[in-house]
Amino acid sequence: KKSLEEVITALRELGEERDKNDFLGEEYIETLAEEFGVPVEVYDPLAEFDYVKKYDEKCANSENLKERPPIVTIMGHVDHGKTSLLDKIRNSRITAKEAGGITQHIGAYMVEKDGKKITFIDTPGHEAFTEMRARGAQVTDIAIIVVAADDGVMPQTREAIAHAQAAEVPFIIAVNKIDKPDANPDLVKSQLAEMGITPVEWGGEYEFVHVSAKTGEGIDDLLETILMQAEIMELKADPTCPAKAVVIESRIEKGKGPVGTVIVKNGTLKKQDSFVCGITYGRVRLIIDDLGKQKKEVKPGEPAEITGFDEAPIAGDTLVVVESDKLAKETADKWKTFLEEREKSKSTKATLEDLQKMILEGELKKLPVIVKADTQGSVEAIKGSLSKLKNEEVKVDVIHSDVGAITENDVILAKASEPKAIILGFNVRPTSGAKTKAKQEGIEIRTYSIIYDLLDDVKELLSGLMTPKV
Ligand code: GDP
Repeated sequence: KKSLEEVITALRELGEERDKNDFLGEEYIETLAEEFGVPVEVYDPLAEFDYVKKYDEKCANSENLKERPPIVTIMGHVDHGKTSLLDKIRNSRITAKEAGGITQHIGAYMVEKDGKKITFIDTPGHEAFTEMRARGAQVTDIAIIVVAADDGVMPQTREAIAHAQAAEVPFIIAVNKIDKPDANPDLVKSQLAEMGITPVEWGGEYEFVHVSAKTGEGIDDLLETILMQAEIMELKADPTCPAKAVVIESRIEKGKGPVGTVIVKNGTLKKQDSFVCGITYGRVRLIIDDLGKQKKEVKPGEPAEITGFDEAPIAGDTLVVVESDKLAKETADKWKTFLEEREKSKSTKATLEDLQKMILEGELKKLPVIVKADTQGSVEAIKGSLSKLKNEEVKVDVIHSDVGAITENDVILAKASEPKAIILGFNVRPTSGAKTKAKQEGIEIRTYSIIYDLLDDVKELLSGLMTPKV
């Protein structure tokens, strides 16, 4: 035990002036302990309630790792062919007669190519992708960004890329509608290369595949490219563990009760397994695959619809198998407490204040921002100036920028960033949907009509001088 005197002296030697009323953060306690040569264990009172974390710790050192199928999401601009591509891949790969079943839309499906499996998430678009990530679940291993060769890069193409990059999910570009007479794949390539997404054939790092969701041309190529990417990533899981899965869809069905589509991330999910899933729990009753067939178990990387939930689960929640029904219910109750406590400890103040505090305390390396402006010229000018703004520790990280109004999607992207990004608008306004969502999620939107004002604000924020807006 050390006297107050000793602690204050030690802190002073470390260059920290503190008095007896000051609260010490975790980092000081650790440094102090080192000074005094006493071991400390940082105890997080909430950690015990976090069943997913506990599972990950328990299953971290598995010796039974086996390759698992990659999980793929298709994103891109509206009408560029996401749905058509998903349908074409499904129909060309799983023949109902071969499997003896009828394809069921359960939210995900699996195809086989050269004896290897690939799981596709059946809801195209980046909204679901990012909403799920914001809930803490990253299901997607690889993203396919579809760009129509007759239309080129469009606002949602850029959005989709920003979402994949923010999630650090590798992506493959599918240049679609290659069958069309006015298809211009080289234009797509040069547009993307300009954004830093240079095709492999031009000396870059990005795989581009020419496809037609109409004729089926290039689909095999696309699947091969996915498998190649998956191999690089060495996606592995332990089928002998108790299961961990992510809910991607859920609904209530007459006669069956709550039904959820899950994708197993690790372990094998079996009938009769007791599980916790967010604030709900249950025991696996039925397992139905994407061909409508009943199964006894679901392996890593595979999707299935399951029943047996006490209440409908929420997409993005993680299901974890536990030893007993009793434990499942207890764990779900604890998780509820966990969420409540976390909500309480979360600051509801302006995120700018929080960011500024983090900057002042040296906890922030990158300040994530999203830039929306009225013209491409101003987007570029703002991005250019922002990239030059930095103090010693912090630099501005433009995670997404584009021409146009501030939309709900921008807010979703800002929310999924860690820490939450701020949205800067120049000569553009948020839509009413974006405004409402930003308020709900505690996202800061600032709009300007003079570029200097925008830059000044960011400068002030970086230097810790920003006066919070009231
Ligand atoms: P989504 O909004 O991205 O899901 O796009 P859809 O899959 O609904 O496709 C939009 C339109 O483009 C539909 O009329 C499709 O039939 C058409 N389409 C999609 N892919 C192709 C393609 O490869 N070639 C041609 N010619 N048309 C396509």
